[in-house]
Amino acid sequence: EKANIGVVGMAVMGSNLARNLAHHGYAVAIYNRTFAKTQAVMDEHGSEGTFIPGATVEEFVASIAHPRSIILMVKAGAATDATIEELLPYLEPGDIIVDAGNSFFRDTIRREKEISEKGFHFVGTGVSGGEYGALTGPSIMPGGTPESYTVLGPMLEAISAHVGDEPCCTWIGPNGAGHFVKMIHNGIEYSDMQVIGEAYELLKAAGIGTDEAAAIFKTWNQGELSSYLIEITADLLQQADPQTGAPLVDVIKDRAGMKGTGTWTVTTALELGVPVNGIAESVFARAESSHDDLRRVAQTSLQGPDRTLQVPDKDAFVEDVRRALWASKVVAYSQGFDEIRTGGQEFGWNINVADCAKIWRDGCIIRAKLLENIRQEYSASPDLVSLMCAPSIAPQLADYQDAWRRVVAAAAQAGVPAPVFSSSLAYYDMARAPRNNAAVTQGLRDYFGSHTYERVDAAGHYHLEWSGDRSEIKTSDN
Ligand code: NDP
Repeated sequence: EKANIGVVGMAVMGSNLARNLAHHGYAVAIYNRTFAKTQAVMDEHGSEGTFIPGATVEEFVASIAHPRSIILMVKAGAATDATIEELLPYLEPGDIIVDAGNSFFRDTIRREKEISEKGFHFVGTGVSGGEYGALTGPSIMPGGTPESYTVLGPMLEAISAHVGDEPCCTWIGPNGAGHFVKMIHNGIEYSDMQVIGEAYELLKAAGIGTDEAAAIFKTWNQGELSSYLIEITADLLQQADPQTGAPLVDVIKDRAGMKGTGTWTVTTALELGVPVNGIAESVFARAESSHDDLRRVAQTSLQGPDRTLQVPDKDAFVEDVRRALWASKVVAYSQGFDEIRTGGQEFGWNINVADCAKIWRDGCIIRAKLLENIRQEYSASPDLVSLMCAPSIAPQLADYQDAWRRVVAAAAQAGVPAPVFSSSLAYYDMARAPRNNAAVTQGLRDYFGSHTYERVDAAGHYHLEWSGDRSEIKTSDN
């Protein structure tokens, strides 16, 4: 019997994905550079379904039915290129290589070009859900050709999470589109986690203990903030340290790591000219948390308030923080979806934004009640410029903004850093301002660099002779 599909990379993600496929009745060929890991999967899980272990790449490829679908779940970067190189000599025209690792979408564009020229399909796909999701149903974001999706799609849809009958997997668009969307999913995940951290720190600053904060997050998870990350925050906060019995969160070093997808979201946004302030602040917050030199010097030299908040009405304050969290989260999502829309246009992918929200409703790390709402908004208006301005969102931001402003002001006054709460409020205010402070910047640019300016009252570009007689010259008609 030949395998229906192959999986390369038997670390935690790949082995779980292979098991998920086997649980759905597919015969799965498995391969890992170091055979011991393949053997370990056979020993521990071989009875869960039909696995065909390959000791060599040649044996592995030969065990899969043609046209072959081969999923790579290896370290992103050089390891992915090395694995592809190893596979290529054994493939036949029409075979599909699926890179399910967290590859940078520009690498995926390059690989798709190189591999399709050789007569094979290359599908870069995002997979989210962590190790548990890979096993039980992740959210899957495949790119590549529509033809490859006709072979691969049914298998990926079968193993993905489902909301009712709807799989959390859909074809996103050509070449790098799937990894692009996964990258932004991760960027949004950064901001989701950062706003949770900011809310927790504010609750603490108001004298709320860790147990009580856990209960507050649990309550929040019953309402419109309902999401996987809020749910596991409640669980994290109530976890005691196995060593000391203190809340575990107080024992964990306040240094957040990262592996690159958040940074890519921000650098790509900068290249596209899309402001993703909330995501950028989240990446920078992790960087600042891990900037040991800065923190060591600053802790002894910089003065400020002692991070305590006097709150006369605790319940009202907790509700203010909840509203600030919701508003900041929605703004960060607006920014992420703006990057998807703009990148989709820039790279010619024609991404269906509503579909992204649809397949993120379950399986992935940012799964949340809000995503159904976002899906409906983008389904109703596929060209929605900003989620913030959507018919169901704008009125709620209007309603929540007083709380949001109070929280940001209180945080600033008490010296509690709340970079995403405050930057998303600034983004909101900047977007809605009929006139913003950029006229000063543009005037200065013309002053020192003759970069010209436009006028509010006439078309064209203008330059002022700053170092001459200060007369104005029209430099172009448009
Ligand atoms: P790792 O990222 O730790 O990768 C380990 C796997 O890569 C092993 O199979 C290893 O083989 C293989 N590998 C490493 N270097 C090479 C090389 N030079 N040549 C060939 N193979 C190599 O494993 P994970 O399971 O954590 O992640 C796999 C992929 O999934 C990554 O791209 C990751 O970013 C992505 N991902 C991970 C998620 C998670 O929650 N962990 C979530 C979503 C995506 P060997 O055993 O021989 O060393």
